[in-house]
Amino acid sequence: MPSGPWPADAWRRELARAVTAVGELLDLVGLSTEQVDATQETGFALRVPRPYIARMRRGDPYDPLLRQVLPTVQESQSVAGYGADPLRESSAVVDSGLLRKYAGRVLLIAAGSCAVNCRYCFRRHFPYAEHRQGSDFPALDAVRRDATIKEVILSGGDPLVLKDSHFADLVRRIADIDHVRRIRIHTRLPVVIPQRVTAALIDVLAGVPQQVVIVLHFNHGNEIDGDCIRALGALGRFTLLNQSVLLRGVNDDVNVLVELSERLFAAGVLPYYLHMPDAVAGTAHFDVSEAEAKALHRRMAARLPGYLTPKLVRETPGLAAKELLASSGI
Ligand SMILES: *Cc1c(COP(=O)(O)O)cnc(C)c1O
Ligand code: SF4
Repeated sequence: MPSGPWPADAWRRELARAVTAVGELLDLVGLSTEQVDATQETGFALRVPRPYIARMRRGDPYDPLLRQVLPTVQESQSVAGYGADPLRESSAVVDSGLLRKYAGRVLLIAAGSCAVNCRYCFRRHFPYAEHRQGSDFPALDAVRRDATIKEVILSGGDPLVLKDSHFADLVRRIADIDHVRRIRIHTRLPVVIPQRVTAALIDVLAGVPQQVVIVLHFNHGNEIDGDCIRALGALGRFTLLNQSVLLRGVNDDVNVLVELSERLFAAGVLPYYLHMPDAVAGTAHFDVSEAEAKALHRRMAARLPGYLTPKLVRETPGLAAKELLASSGI
């Protein structure tokens, strides 16, 4: 396997030329505004890279990839029980840029933006400006002082929007902390711009003594194209897991979920979590009820080996781990 399948700066060009206008996105997928309930006015910008748009079906207003990124009028509905910070992340802040939600591990808000803006995002109202990290990552001081922290989870935003040199610097600083055993990266960049998987990225991750875990966020099998498979193949020496969000109109279908698990595993990724949508303002139209989710999960478990059936989970603020709604059995 070549260590880096793409030229070093191809992904940055894709990041810069991501589509941000609703009209252009609809043109590219061959839809008119009358066919979809789209709007540019949501307070959470449209942002979608072209390699991802290339995987959408033309002329289909219900395409599951389009639905994940297209701003719609439903987002402005205010729905009881949906708020800006349903996970109460503001109370988990230990330092600027550092959240402590789970025992033994911390979340580092390594970047304040993403390559794609997912409409269902649980951090769509997150105050990133308050968590911006300087080039020496001061949030790491709290990790150095606390030997109970065994795992640093790079989150965001998307930590892989950082330039290779900046990302390398961050990873090496974490690697120098003796009590940290694992470095975990939660990312959607290899999903939307597979060219992000550069030789420099692989070299820096392969060069640290800690174990590296990469949690991808694929929600639908159609997201996995040939370039994604190449990117995941190049990351094959690391532990690759997937976390999906269960989303109405995107993947709330047993055939879709089974196919997603199959394609993930074929690309070297283990399905890890199937996450209930969080009650974030502007996302209520994606909600799937707990009863429906459990029924879907049972039907999925009946068709897949246990290791291809993700755990169905929900995030409940204040708990030390995610709440398990169903595991691999039926
Ligand atoms: C749940 C979650 C984590 C922590 O996951 P565990 O595997 O339960 O430790 C980290 N990042 C995000 C985005 C999550 O949703
Ligand atoms: S990549 Fe993750 S953090 Fe970024 S917008 Fe999508 S769901 Fe939110």
